[in-house]
Amino acid sequence: MRGTEETRDGGGAFVKVVHGSDAAENAYCAISAVCARNVRGMRVLLKVNTGFKGPARSGLCTSPDVVSGLIRYFKEQGAGRVLVGDSSIVGVDGMEALDAAGILEVCRREDVECVDLNAYGPLERRVPDGVMVDSILFSALLAECDIVVSVPVMKTHMYTGASLSIKNMKGAMWRREKTKLHRLHRPVPEGAVGRALDYGILDLAKVCYPDYAVIDGSVCMEGFGPSGGPSKSMDLVVASAEAVAADLVALRLMGIPLEEVPHVRLVAEGRGIDYNRIAADPPDWMHYADRFVRASEARLDISCDAIEIVDESACSACHAALVQFLRYHARKFEHGPVHTLFAGRDICLERINAAERPFLIGNCAAAFRGAAPFCKGCPPIPSEIAKTLKGESGVKIQYLGHACFLISSKEYSVLIDPFLTDNPQAAVKPDEVRATHILVTHGHGDHLGDAAQIAQRTGATVYATVETAKLFPEGVSVEVGQIGGSVPAEFGRVKFTAAAHGSGVGGGLACGFVVEFEGKKVYHAGDTGLIMDMALLEEESVDVALIPIGDKFTMGPKDALRAVKMIKPKKAIPMHYNTWPPIAQDPQQWKRDVEAATDTEVVVLAAGEWMEL
Ligand code: SF4
Repeated sequence: MRGTEETRDGGGAFVKVVHGSDAAENAYCAISAVCARNVRGMRVLLKVNTGFKGPARSGLCTSPDVVSGLIRYFKEQGAGRVLVGDSSIVGVDGMEALDAAGILEVCRREDVECVDLNAYGPLERRVPDGVMVDSILFSALLAECDIVVSVPVMKTHMYTGASLSIKNMKGAMWRREKTKLHRLHRPVPEGAVGRALDYGILDLAKVCYPDYAVIDGSVCMEGFGPSGGPSKSMDLVVASAEAVAADLVALRLMGIPLEEVPHVRLVAEGRGIDYNRIAADPPDWMHYADRFVRASEARLDISCDAIEIVDESACSACHAALVQFLRYHARKFEHGPVHTLFAGRDICLERINAAERPFLIGNCAAAFRGAAPFCKGCPPIPSEIAKTLKGESGVKIQYLGHACFLISSKEYSVLIDPFLTDNPQAAVKPDEVRATHILVTHGHGDHLGDAAQIAQRTGATVYATVETAKLFPEGVSVEVGQIGGSVPAEFGRVKFTAAAHGSGVGGGLACGFVVEFEGKKVYHAGDTGLIMDMALLEEESVDVALIPIGDKFTMGPKDALRAVKMIKPKKAIPMHYNTWPPIAQDPQQWKRDVEAATDTEVVVLAAGEWMEL
């Protein structure tokens, strides 16, 4: 390292290090020392780090005090507009994270704009000589700003070694584009010094390099950063007009060798910044250095025999979510059975089927959502992982009368046999019911019902046999199958099962369905008499069987009991009874009979009632 003046004269980068107990004052002094531009009338974006939602001054997010010092500086210098913002990881509300970090309050007090970068449209930038990507979408707000200041927290990072001002700009990527750098498919260059993510950040820095870096080292994070480590007070702010130089100095202060943070090395080399030519002030700045515990050295101190994680090429964002889950939620499961969590893009069905209580974590696992309970998110939210394991899936089944049911989650609504008009039991009107998918067992009016009209109104895809599908007008999206076959659906899978009944369509057969819905299995028998095929359904491990008990046109209560004995579902719901006098039955008597003779719980739902699956 050379002296400050010497390096300034020689054209090297200058870095200001400020130490003190007043973080706002530190930030003010630091930016004053490095900002040589006339900012009068300019639009300045302070790109903070609120990727995760957490309390102020905990090392998770940029300190509101540092933000306050920077706002004061730019306002005093006559900036035309100061904006403070970030976009959080997928699944976290950006404004809520800014609020929790205390930044929203500072902005209100200082009368500057606090923004969620995701609230703006996309802005595409081509990456010159991109190593891992050719283009990146950013928040369009970047194009509206004359000066961008990267204001990260000084943190360790499980995958990149550290997260500082260069990596902080990943938060300027537009919405889900952020996950792009976690799903890189190109091979790293020969003789690579880092992993794909490091080269992805190198590409990012080529098109989104901040004008200034002000690294918040007041309360930092060590160990399992960027979200699972303990806080560490340093009372520092590090600033530079050459962001990677600030990162290099911060790494020295953290006691982390450059080899452990390849993306900083790559960016520094790319910009011709040599650590030995950096001028840092004050001359004794290394006096403030204090070695950070690295992620590789950190101990999670979590002992939970009941959680097994199968990492099938999951990226760092999923890892961070799983670490958070283990840290804050795993204790709730420690005395229960083993739960096997699958995450990543290389999951295979055989392993899921062989696992003890499998759960699918993250959108990469979505393709198998019919095979096990699924927690969506990219990355998934730790508290939602816990809910999924607890069986709080949010999946409901509602009885709408006769043979009509609605299976729903936050995302999907599967409507089966929507006979609502002229149905004396109907719990909703056809123009009120929501549906993303409609399943029709056969063409009789009390099953086909209002399916076409609802499909036209909602755009729902209809699942039906080839013959029944012909009953739908042109323009309705139809997915056809035949008995024994199954077709994939966004929520899981639909299998067509045998039913002994007329189809109401020339040449066609009536059917039932096994619906795999977000890890739950529902069997809708359709209109049918008792058939031996039902014995095959035992292997399906049906969660809920919807069984007709009305007699005359379908099974009566006695055969319906024999059906339950064959299927062995966890629960059964009676249907297709009491709509009209010819199919009058006592469902409570059937419940008593079934529960006396089997392990199946019978749930009698009145039309409109629902239960959690
Ligand atoms: S689902 Fe998980 S592993 Fe897949 S890209 Fe998203 S965060 Fe990464």
